[in-house]
Amino acid sequence: MNIDYLIEQIFLYPRPFVLTGAGISTESGIPDFRGSGGLWEKVDPMETFSAWAFKDHPERLYQHAREVFGFILKAQPNAGHKVLGEWQRKRIIGPIVTQNIDNLHQKGGAFFVYEVHGHVRTATCSRCHKTTKNMESIIRDLEKGIKVPLCSCGGVLKPDVILFGDAMPYDYMYSVKMADIYSALPQMIIVVGSSLAVSPINSLPLSFDKFSIINNSPTMLDRQADIIINGLTGEVLSEMHRKILSLNGGQELKPLPAGFIPGRLFNIVAEFYRNSLKTAKTGEYQKIVKFDISLLENLFSFYIKEGRQQELEYYLVETYLSEIEKIKQELGKNFRFLKPDNSYLLKYLYKLLESLNKAVFAYARQHNASEKVLEELVMQFLGTAGLYEYLKNLAKDKRKDGVSSMVDAVEKFAYARGLAINRELALKDF
Ligand code: NAD
Repeated sequence: MNIDYLIEQIFLYPRPFVLTGAGISTESGIPDFRGSGGLWEKVDPMETFSAWAFKDHPERLYQHAREVFGFILKAQPNAGHKVLGEWQRKRIIGPIVTQNIDNLHQKGGAFFVYEVHGHVRTATCSRCHKTTKNMESIIRDLEKGIKVPLCSCGGVLKPDVILFGDAMPYDYMYSVKMADIYSALPQMIIVVGSSLAVSPINSLPLSFDKFSIINNSPTMLDRQADIIINGLTGEVLSEMHRKILSLNGGQELKPLPAGFIPGRLFNIVAEFYRNSLKTAKTGEYQKIVKFDISLLENLFSFYIKEGRQQELEYYLVETYLSEIEKIKQELGKNFRFLKPDNSYLLKYLYKLLESLNKAVFAYARQHNASEKVLEELVMQFLGTAGLYEYLKNLAKDKRKDGVSSMVDAVEKFAYARGLAINRELALKDF
């Protein structure tokens, strides 16, 4: 039941953030902090894996590095990582923020991952900060008997993971910034396999309007969560994936078009309608609801007339069309299309565009920005800009706004960065 509800919510709050913890990787054989047989039963983390211990006794960490990092480097992604990777590539979820250092999301096919506690791929010189060395080659050095790997400048190489007492890495700041940028519109985060006991990242879910948890035991924030699914992450995510595939007629998923967000559009209008009922505001409010519903009906009919590339898209459009029908019935038989001064839908879509625009440039400023993520963010912006223009034309809204200059700026930027984007095609990708 909760699984079906979570799937529904994912399409109403499209491309939700996902926050993962050690629990998603236990099925890959990496124990979590609290699991039995974990490293912490053998080693005192403060004596070995803390910033201060490393400063005075780096050999202690390296004594365990072969066992810990070597083991993690060999681990393989499990069903949970693979489902999340697949969903990200198919535009069902947004960024993955992970507390894990194990690189398994990337191995599982995800390309947009914030590693807020660092990663095991490399080590950096703690003196010159310039030299970075592959962790696998460091492990080979340790196997040859080197006790503490050094940089050519003589500094100690420190694994790029966050030790107890270290400052949070850039990825933490970047992920918080990204969440903040998207918060112009209601957003959802799904926490997967985390006790939410480790701060400061455990406060991230509290900045989202909707917050869901998939975990096999209670977490610190259960009381604040909207949806809790108790189970093993690999099993729950696989079950959800099977259900999404069955909505797609059993076919493999294709990426959803970059600006295809019928659930969000419906959600915006439905929320506005519900609020207008709560505050007993009628008149102009109801006029706006009716107008926006007409816009949506037109858009969704266009979607069906034009044809969609996969069953899932038809399913979503038809679902929201029947939801719209319910609202229309509540609004009474004499449903008339009256043009209000403002369309709430267009106003919010404009806000969303501003967020997507900011996201492109904020991401581009990240020191570790990847071309693939940039392309994706540019596509999401342009696809949504095309959708906005389509709806604006339908609404015969001739007001001037900043969309064309935003589009120009993004196109110029994409060209300067050599991104493989075709403006005309991207604007039609909704
Ligand atoms: P945690 O150990 O505090 O919590 C893990 C949660 O996942 C627990 O509530 C546990 O009951 C649950 N869990 C375990 N296996 C599960 C499964 N198969 N399905 C569903 N739930 C499952 O982990 P945390 O919240 O990530 O915080 C611990 C810290 O330890 C993090 O900072 C992380 O960096 C670090 N850590 C990372 C790894 C890794 O990279 N794989 C492993 C251990 C610890």
